[in-house]
Amino acid sequence: MRFGVVQKYRSFLPVNPGTPLITLGEGDTPLVQSTRIAREIGCDQLYFKLEGCNPTGSFKDRGMVMAVAKAIEEGSKAIICASTGNTSASAAAYAAHCGLAAAVVVPSGYVALGKLTQALMHGAQVLAIEGNFDQALQMVRTIVGRHPITLVNSLNPYRLEGQKTAAFEVVDALGAAPDYLFIPVGNAGNITAYWRGFVEYRRTGKSDSLPRMMGFEAEGAAAIVRGKPVAQPTTIATAIRIGNPASWRGAEQAREESGGLIDAIADDAIIEAYHLLANGEGLFVEPASAAGVAGLLKLARRGQDFSGKTVVCVLTGSGLKDPDTAMKTVPGMVAVPADVASIEKELGY
Ligand SMILES: *Cc1c(COP(=O)(O)O)cnc(C)c1O
Repeated sequence: MRFGVVQKYRSFLPVNPGTPLITLGEGDTPLVQSTRIAREIGCDQLYFKLEGCNPTGSFKDRGMVMAVAKAIEEGSKAIICASTGNTSASAAAYAAHCGLAAAVVVPSGYVALGKLTQALMHGAQVLAIEGNFDQALQMVRTIVGRHPITLVNSLNPYRLEGQKTAAFEVVDALGAAPDYLFIPVGNAGNITAYWRGFVEYRRTGKSDSLPRMMGFEAEGAAAIVRGKPVAQPTTIATAIRIGNPASWRGAEQAREESGGLIDAIADDAIIEAYHLLANGEGLFVEPASAAGVAGLLKLARRGQDFSGKTVVCVLTGSGLKDPDTAMKTVPGMVAVPADVASIEKELGY
């Protein structure tokens, strides 16, 4: 039996007797030790937090379960979000679980196939606009101001509350906060939530240190790094294709208070890390999830020394979400005649 994050961490969350303790089994995700990348960068305490193991395949479930529980508590019957894909998959699943209506607004042509499939399978109304995520979010904000429907984007404060539980799990698993946390940055909600989680855990005596927060935006969508919104964000990593992050200030605060950094990472470096995780570590993540690892490799290759440090990279979502990008970047299959000799020849025997 899995109790989920709302019940497990209820004393740290906005849970009261009227809050339904719903769950799809989110949280309690593995923290796996690196083999190949650890060796490559000379860091023997490198770990990956596998957020793709959440029920809909991304960390969004941690925040969505809290947001939906509060929506139900407040008597809401319907939820809505703008999404690059994973938020809509998660919203649709929790709405289905709880008997709410769900509507999602997505940028047409820029949502990975698996995520779109999930939203549709879970029965959400999926509206694709000829515009980007930032425009979709603006429209959804207007709609919730006019109609009785609950916004479940990370502007909903309960989302970040739920998401901070991932930081609790990292500390619970390691017995202490790591020295560094590497994480992709899109709308910047997750880096904000992790920082909040680490700070709360230290305040309550569950840990006695804090990590440096190392956030990475895609180069074509690096609003925080450049210090101004990007009107036409571009990147292969669709989950972080966001030009005006809603939690911009929270990300800057995490960077400043932790002595960390927010940097930009090129698409080819993201794809390199994506492949290294898959074929060197056995971890198939979606492209956006590789941005933090790409950032770690970049800093290590520039000479930053991670030996003796404990480093955690957050792998935000499953690679199965986006088979199209994967198939476009691998060598592909070899067609062989249906006989043993042909297969042996191909295998080099
Ligand atoms: C949402 C998402 C991100 C970005 O997280 P933010 O909170 O928007 O910064 C990164 N990776 C994946 C897989 C996501 O779904």
